[in-house]
Amino acid sequence: MEQNLLTLIYLISSVTFIVGLKMLSHPATARNGNFVAAFGMTIAIFGTIFHYQEEGRHLGNYPWIFGGILIGAVVGTLAAKRVKMTAMPEMVSLFNGMGGACAALISLVEFDHLSHTDGVSVEPGFLLIIVLGLIIGSVSFAGSIIAWGKLNGSIKDYSFKGQHIFNLLLLGVIIGLAVYLIGWMPTQSIVVFYVIFFLSLLYGIFFVFPIGGADMPVVISLLNSFTGVAAACGGFLYENKVMLTGGILVGAAGTLLTILMCKAMNRSLTNVLIGSFGASAVGGGPSTSVQGTHKEISLSDTAVLMSYANKVFIVPGYGLAVAQAQHACHELEKLLESKGVEVKYAIHPVAGRMPGHMNVLLAEADVPYDKLLEMEQANEEFSTTDVVLILGANDVVNPAAKTDPSSPIYGMPILDVELAKHVIVNKRSMKPGYAGIENELFFRPKTSMLFGDAKKVLQDLVAEIKNL
Ligand code: NDP
Repeated sequence: MEQNLLTLIYLISSVTFIVGLKMLSHPATARNGNFVAAFGMTIAIFGTIFHYQEEGRHLGNYPWIFGGILIGAVVGTLAAKRVKMTAMPEMVSLFNGMGGACAALISLVEFDHLSHTDGVSVEPGFLLIIVLGLIIGSVSFAGSIIAWGKLNGSIKDYSFKGQHIFNLLLLGVIIGLAVYLIGWMPTQSIVVFYVIFFLSLLYGIFFVFPIGGADMPVVISLLNSFTGVAAACGGFLYENKVMLTGGILVGAAGTLLTILMCKAMNRSLTNVLIGSFGASAVGGGPSTSVQGTHKEISLSDTAVLMSYANKVFIVPGYGLAVAQAQHACHELEKLLESKGVEVKYAIHPVAGRMPGHMNVLLAEADVPYDKLLEMEQANEEFSTTDVVLILGANDVVNPAAKTDPSSPIYGMPILDVELAKHVIVNKRSMKPGYAGIENELFFRPKTSMLFGDAKKVLQDLVAEIKNL
């Protein structure tokens, strides 16, 4: 009876995960989708705690279990409440790393159990799952921590000569040891197991260290899928269907996102992982020298230009998130529309610092979703646009991606803003963006620079337009 109840709970949870994930794919339903999936996770956890039985006994250990839940819930809630919108990508990376760490810990604990069950022959399949969970979970944990540091700027890209050979060798040794442990080792050696654990952590670090700034979206999505697969290993291990479903969903979603991000960067996964080492650094990689002078535009000229335009495109970038200017941006859009100007947003798939960053940011300010155009659609419409206002975007509009084969972003599709009549760029200085390279767009004849913090500039612009 109790087993049937638990199976029913797991079934409901699995369905909520699928429904929740589906709802996450649209900003209008994403918030509720989160609640639906969180509800499913809650009943799965409490169902397991109170209804799971082994040899007729419940789990017990309640003080430990609830102590852990309490600490995790308090830390998680405080972190999520206090995090600044700009630090969101780092937090997502960190939490993803925690998922990987959990999967690796499960493997460590279960291997420890095995090594204490003397005389019991261990099925190779069982050991394979433990070792897989350990390797993938550790790589995901260590890699996500490096990604977290790179996103917040505390860790710089690092590579050395022959690093991909080193990485491949490291991976080869890990696989070799795993095969040896599972297939040939007469008594499962703890030492070999811990060497695999240590080398996997090392691999996670060296695998993410050299990836160039502009390629980070691909790595983040890949690490996300690793965590899902590692969690699915835990599901196999415990024959826990809801853990398996959850893990597979995260793994599959992460894989799809990886493919989408590769497409957005116009790179193959192999090219990202072993092809473009040392491309950049957060705010300080090699930058192509761009010659020329830029021209500035005043706030009042911008106000006139935009008010009398027929069609305006806004290109949001990471700087918009830094300035927390999404609400001011929406206000400008509404004001211009009240004057009969058609306003749309052009969203580059890797704008910001996490997949979907700009969609989330603008949805927070209630910008209607149908105003957000994907890159391909926007590129088709720029030629009929009077003014493009770039707000804190840089790499995603850098023509070097098309013209400079030596550029680390060469080949990445960009927003063709120069097809419009006027291009106005708002940022605080002439400093480069995440990929660390200069942007020739800022010196082109059609471009005018409007310097200042995005929020302040937008608020002043709104006031100026109202006074016209
Ligand atoms: P960029 O990082 O290229 O440029 C952002 C610009 O915003 C900077 O040049 C900065 O210039 C400006 N800025 C910063 N603060 C403000 C402010 N308060 N007001 C106005 N402007 C400001 O951003 P993009 O969105 O164009 O490109 C994203 C980059 O991040 C790509 O290289 C992408 O590959 C990478 N990336 C993306 C991830 C994703 O999943 N989307 C994950 C990891 C990396 P200044 O300092 O002069 O103001």
